Amino acid sequence: MTDVTIKIKQRTATKMKKGYPLIEQAALVNRDLLSTSKEGIILRLVDEAGSFIGKGYYGKQNKGVGWMLTRTEHEAIDTAFFSRLFQAAFQKRLALLQSESTTAFRLFNGEGDGIGGLTIDYYDGFYVCTWYSEGIYTFRNEVYKALESIVSFKGVYEKKRFSTKGTYVEDDDFVMGERGEFPLLVKENEITFAIYLNDGPMVGVFLDQREVRRRIHDEYAKGKTVLNTFSYTGAFSVAAALGRAEKTTSVDLANRSLAKTIEQFSVNGVDYESQDIVVMDVFNYFKYAKKKEKSFDLVILDPPSFARSKKRTFSAEKNYTDLLQEAISITNKDGVIVASTNCSTFGMDKFHSFIGEAFKREKGKYEILEEYTLPEDFRTTKAFREGNYLKVVFIKKHN
Ligand code: SAH
Repeated sequence: MTDVTIKIKQRTATKMKKGYPLIEQAALVNRDLLSTSKEGIILRLVDEAGSFIGKGYYGKQNKGVGWMLTRTEHEAIDTAFFSRLFQAAFQKRLALLQSESTTAFRLFNGEGDGIGGLTIDYYDGFYVCTWYSEGIYTFRNEVYKALESIVSFKGVYEKKRFSTKGTYVEDDDFVMGERGEFPLLVKENEITFAIYLNDGPMVGVFLDQREVRRRIHDEYAKGKTVLNTFSYTGAFSVAAALGRAEKTTSVDLANRSLAKTIEQFSVNGVDYESQDIVVMDVFNYFKYAKKKEKSFDLVILDPPSFARSKKRTFSAEKNYTDLLQEAISITNKDGVIVASTNCSTFGMDKFHSFIGEAFKREKGKYEILEEYTLPEDFRTTKAFREGNYLKVVFIKKHN
């Protein structure tokens, strides 16, 4: 198949020559050229003067129309190409691959490891490939062959997030090897998590919060009352309980969160009956807590970037300040708020401004104790800072 040559506007072309990997729709000189093309074709990218920038693939994602794969004109995008990139990526995670205390982490992180739109996670010998566009998914055979040629896995599962706007395509997610028995019990810094690889888009734990859970476990939980909002399966609560919190309260509006949180406590030998697990809209919980004059030493906020419940829409970009205000009002003096967001449409500076504004409105004083972005296994590239979407700030409330 001959590659389609695509002209990139000069400003973006200059950026791309330095490594910017995203092919943006707005940067194409002839935007219509792709409208008749099939996702997965190789694009030969040139600047307005026709000089070669690199080769990428056509794949529509919310962020763009494809990703650059190589800056070497005659490098073929084949099984050997994927093998080389996987090997380099796995090499960088050797310490984690050999770790006995952590058996779940990210092995390959999209554009950070050289292939935008594809991630590979590791769960105790099982590999989970997540595909973010139909375009990258056309390389499925080459990718799985490459994986087979360089590692001995127990089994491979996949998540397809591309039907419309990155939603998950419901399917049997098993690909090859042996099927797992679920829950699969994995470890993260000695904490156990129950994982389900064939039960929808989310497997039970978000691996990018490893450092944050470790800090909560090691430094922030002991003897404290902990409120974990948007708790999902209660991973932060488990870390806090094992870190000898006085008590944890997990709040999530999804019905499934109750059984899932009980399970995560149980596989860690924590008596779930000694903890509170509440199925409720977080904003209603704040009202309830205020009415009952409940307050906490440690409040964890980790909402989705966007959520619609029956009564309201929450958007991290628009409503995080309000969320913080609520949290501040039920945090004890000298207590700590862990404010987290995975929203990629704003950066750390803006997140700080939300924090400043919320404390101003509540007439409170605060101090930033520490901050986290993505951990090392979620590699990002300097040329594409937007890829480092995670922002976590530990804030001490002074009065
Ligand atoms: N903090 C979690 C991950 C959160 S995922 C962790 O570390 O594992 C987002 C969760 O927010 C989902 O479980 C979803 O059910 C929940 N959620 C979304 N809107 C909510 C709301 N208004 N109130 C309570 N939970 C909400």
